Amino acid sequence: MLMPPPMNEHGISVTACDSCHAVRPVRATKFMMNIGLIVLRLERQVGGQLCKSCVWKTFWGYTLGNLVLGWWGLKSFFYTLIFLFANIGELMAARPLLRLPADPAASPSAPPPA
Ligand SMILES: [Zn+2]
Repeated sequence: MLMPPPMNEHGISVTACDSCHAVRPVRATKFMMNIGLIVLRLERQVGGQLCKSCVWKTFWGYTLGNLVLGWWGLKSFFYTLIFLFANIGELMAARPLLRLPADPAASPSAPPPA
């Protein structure tokens, strides 16, 4: 049986990110996007153990998607509002992860290993 990695009181553990697969501090996070198609609507969601940079990248990608594609339709209008606030809530919940110092391995200016 696979044991989950130990996590601190903020739900942060060090394991492979579900998005970029780098071993970094990660946290369980879920973002949602509504795509309004006037009479239909589509939903996309990303969830899992995400690292700091993937949380930011996913949050902004899904926020932009909601703002541009979300409003097209009556039901979609309300789903988009709910998803925008839910995503902001997820981002707020991930603050302990987002406050961690930048991972030097993720920075392009990091010196190469000796
Ligand atoms: Zn990642």
